[in-house]
Amino acid sequence: MEAVLVTGGAGFIGSHFVKRLLRAEDVAKVTVLDALTYAGHIENLGEACLDPRLSFVQGNILDAALVDTLVAQHTAVVHFAAESHVDRSFSTASTFLTTNVLGTQTLADAAMRHGVEKFVHVSTDEVYGPLLEGAATEDYPLHPTVPYAAAKAASDLVALSYWHTYGAPVCVTRSSNNYGPNQHPEKIIPLFVTRLLRGEQVTLHDRGQHVRNWLHVEDNCAGVELVLRLGVPGETYNLGGGTDMTSKELTRHLLDLCGATWDSVTYIPDRQANDIRYSMIWDKIASQLGYKPQRDFHEALSDTVEWYRRNPDRWAPLTRNSAATRPRVTLGTAREPQRV
Ligand code: NAD
Repeated sequence: MEAVLVTGGAGFIGSHFVKRLLRAEDVAKVTVLDALTYAGHIENLGEACLDPRLSFVQGNILDAALVDTLVAQHTAVVHFAAESHVDRSFSTASTFLTTNVLGTQTLADAAMRHGVEKFVHVSTDEVYGPLLEGAATEDYPLHPTVPYAAAKAASDLVALSYWHTYGAPVCVTRSSNNYGPNQHPEKIIPLFVTRLLRGEQVTLHDRGQHVRNWLHVEDNCAGVELVLRLGVPGETYNLGGGTDMTSKELTRHLLDLCGATWDSVTYIPDRQANDIRYSMIWDKIASQLGYKPQRDFHEALSDTVEWYRRNPDRWAPLTRNSAATRPRVTLGTAREPQRV
């Protein structure tokens, strides 16, 4: 692979993906395009910043001129950039729609114009909505219930429309809930871990009966790389294979790992549209592209808690600023990318 543009590469999953790409010897150049909103941090890239193949551009995926210039310099695009936190989408739905839908369209437009070899659009199983039983295959109807998931579903359809209309080589991945180091402490696992490590209370909605599939971020990134290299244009790939559990079971594991007890847990009424269960089948990527998740849940969760225990300097400032919801965006210019 010659040159890969990674949007959202300073975020949680994107930064793990960039590090993974740079471990591949056939990757000649990686450019991160990231607006560095409240969710993006160059520190997430760590030592990858020292790799001469990596460039970083602070810029917005809605900036069509910048996007056009950057896409023209790359052979593939992997698109992670998004507003990603469900709770925030209740108060700032327009930002979610603008970034997630129009941002995807801006990128897909440039990818089509410049004839990239692959455009991987990274999405979520939340687009299928709640399933009381059974599991969604890739052709299952989309029933998103919250603005975040609706914006992701719309962006999936926009991305795929560039395949149907123009033959742009678009693939979509839909993964379950990720966890691992560097995740913003607004998401449930780091939220609970960082609170429990400080001896604070955590809150469980309803009786903690909501079921999610927990996939280690490295396994998701391995799947995204497979789709980048081998995915068939026009196809969508579910990326699961983590561990299914209720939020109460997840809490029990986190209490054990953080040395806390159920006294630290307060039950609160459920929020609206808190989907009771997500579930999807990932046979397609397993059988067609050879995807096989590697990380054992208990070991990987323990490693994750250990990372938060050892790196308070990385998350403590973010917990103090958790009320700061407005993105801090500096528009990049259509210039040569700068080395980080
Ligand atoms: P994140 O919030 O940690 O990172 C998002 C990144 O996008 C940040 O670095 C942010 O600065 C950047 N960004 C936001 N708006 C931008 C804009 N307008 N222009 C340029 N950059 C912008 O998110 P994440 O958890 O790493 O998720 C990455 C992708 O994976 C998202 O598309 C998300 O929908 C999807 N996904 C996430 C999960 C999960 O469990 N976290 C599961 C399935 C799918």
